[in-house]
Amino acid sequence: MTNIEWTEKTWNPIVGCSIVSPGCTNCYAMKMAARLEKMMKPERRGDVLLPHHYTRLTKPSNGGPVWTGRVNIAPDNILLAPLRRKKPTMYFVNSMGDLFHESIPDEWIDRVFAVMARCPQHTFQVLTKRSERMREYCAKLDRAPGPTTIEIAEASIQPPLNDWPLPNVWLGVSAERQTEADERIPDLLATPAAVRFVSAEPLLEAVDFTDLSYSGMCLDAVEGYLQGGAGYATPQRRRLDWIIVGGESGANARPMHPDWARSIRDQCTAAGVPFFFKQWGEWAPTRLTDPPRVDLRWLSSNGGCMDAMWNDPKPSEADVMISKVGKKSAGRLLDDRDWSQMPLRESGV
Ligand code: SF4
Repeated sequence: MTNIEWTEKTWNPIVGCSIVSPGCTNCYAMKMAARLEKMMKPERRGDVLLPHHYTRLTKPSNGGPVWTGRVNIAPDNILLAPLRRKKPTMYFVNSMGDLFHESIPDEWIDRVFAVMARCPQHTFQVLTKRSERMREYCAKLDRAPGPTTIEIAEASIQPPLNDWPLPNVWLGVSAERQTEADERIPDLLATPAAVRFVSAEPLLEAVDFTDLSYSGMCLDAVEGYLQGGAGYATPQRRRLDWIIVGGESGANARPMHPDWARSIRDQCTAAGVPFFFKQWGEWAPTRLTDPPRVDLRWLSSNGGCMDAMWNDPKPSEADVMISKVGKKSAGRLLDDRDWSQMPLRESGV
């Protein structure tokens, strides 16, 4: 089980990572990996007992544990776990790392894809910040469809990679700011996938998915148009199938302005793209009708924050008063509504 609202279970066949962009600053997996290293016992691999696979993924620092950049593949009982599960399940793949991390050899990713190919009863959600590696890896499989023998444990299997892209694998990228959206979404749209999604969490600024900067042109990733310099727009074969938005949780969480979330909801609604509002996170907008709160701030639309008192006048029209109420109290309603839409279609290209 998992408390991630948009999935049912996490599956971590490969663990370990390193910081890649501002969304990683308060990486939950980094802290959790350090905890697991202390808690877990040695693992049996064949006839030998070896240090468990969370060993040496992190090292201590003054600010808490940090990734070492090391990555480890899990033992077979974890790698093969989805094969044993009959009940159709939505799996989030690699919540404790990034499947397309630069240190992970292609052979390990092959094994993960082989398991996913052998489990048509499940849906696998793969989310990465390494969109370029994902595009290149999938292009390699795209160029060589057909039976590919992949070694898993002691056995070879031939996953049905001629059924490509795998209909039960959703591919997604994280996009916490416009910069990451501009960089990663064109890669995602260039990658063959049954479903393509974006996780804008932790959302750190306003992001316009209708106006991505791409090779000197404007890409509308929700409607599926590319606009060149002459002003004409060319329809694209692919667009996003799902967008998730969430604020940050944890002790050092950065707040999310409600207008950033509303704007993405409105972009999705106008284009008919399913929208999932996952959480406010640690901070939530405060209304004067709420009980008095501590730790009040004014949050501006550019992310600037300043301390506030309950009766302070609003510094500017776009500012909102927020308070640090904790993830649970903050909840996941946006404008008093639950937004838990899921992808409706499989583009299959
Ligand atoms: S890519 Fe994900 S797992 Fe890796 S450091 Fe960033 S937030 Fe953490």
